Amino acid sequence: MSIRTIGIIGGGQLGRMLAMAAARLNFTTIILEPQADCPAAQVANAQIVAAYDDPAALAELAARCDVVTYEFENVPVVAAEALQRSVPVHPPARALDIAQDRVTEKRFLNGCGIETASFHAVDSQDDLEQALADFGGRGVLKTRRLGYDGKGQRVFRGSADSAAGAYAALGGVPLILESFVAFEREVSVIAARAADGNIVSYDPAENVHRDGILHTSTLPARITVSTAAAARESAARLLAAMDYVGVLGMEFFVMADGSLIANEIAPRVHNSGHWTEAACVVSQFEQHIRAVTALPLGDTRRHSNCVMTNLIGDDIGEVPAWLARPDVLVHLYGKTESRQGRKMGHVTALTGPKMAS
Ligand code: AMP
Repeated sequence: MSIRTIGIIGGGQLGRMLAMAAARLNFTTIILEPQADCPAAQVANAQIVAAYDDPAALAELAARCDVVTYEFENVPVVAAEALQRSVPVHPPARALDIAQDRVTEKRFLNGCGIETASFHAVDSQDDLEQALADFGGRGVLKTRRLGYDGKGQRVFRGSADSAAGAYAALGGVPLILESFVAFEREVSVIAARAADGNIVSYDPAENVHRDGILHTSTLPARITVSTAAAARESAARLLAAMDYVGVLGMEFFVMADGSLIANEIAPRVHNSGHWTEAACVVSQFEQHIRAVTALPLGDTRRHSNCVMTNLIGDDIGEVPAWLARPDVLVHLYGKTESRQGRKMGHVTALTGPKMAS
């Protein structure tokens, strides 16, 4: 059956950019999102205004679409599983299940032979104190589920740092304590897998976070050819192990010796891949649309060096200055209200042609 209509669960900026890429290839898109006039719906063909797990809305989405995808990893797994019974869903519900829980995710990565920080599951204040003792008082405490952009995290820097009350302070929910990774830099890889098993990936980006939120992605990353190859190879191994279809983002810590420790995966297009729309012929958004609609995957080669900068909260006021620069691609998300920490748009500055490697 040929695919004409793509359902997208989630109405944020990632859904918006997926809908724009889909439109260029003559697909129509329907967004499922409870917030009316969301960023994605502004550029899509239709919106179903309902909760992500509303059974009637999911049935309507399945009936009106030839394939369904999603733009955020906290789509209820039961919703994706229910949809999967009547319409193809890419990436598979299993990828959501793995990515929604940091402990499950790390165990899965380790099972694929991919190194992560050491960790302990923490379900009580006692667990936390034992886990911290094991890591010499240092570590990063995170919620196992629903954390993003550094929310729901606490860093312990040594035994002088009191853990009293820390379990309750993060909400009394299941937590994970990760060993503290003294990394040199952070990189991420955007990779895609097609239903026929073909896998492609983009050059790793070097990422800088501010207040737990991605600030810039810079290409090329300051890593060796072999570190870059290892990052791409890990992403490829992960995609194959999940029988994945679509684009995935994978974040790594780079150690001083060039070795990699995987931090996090996102079963979707990723903020650290936004640069691809300016510096590659086929962006991560088009790549995802190609993968989920069974079109051939596109070329991932990068033609330019670049720096992507997120516009967060009041940064939106800098848009006139960015627009005045001839080397910058400006991308805004259609959000009328700017709030502290809210992603309002991003800009990618081309910084010169990529040198032949
Ligand atoms: P995350 O939400 O897991 O992506 O973490 C947000 C940021 O916190 C990461 O990009 C790192 O800069 C930092 N971070 C997270 N986990 C660790 C860790 N185990 N050791 C050191 N820094 C970390």
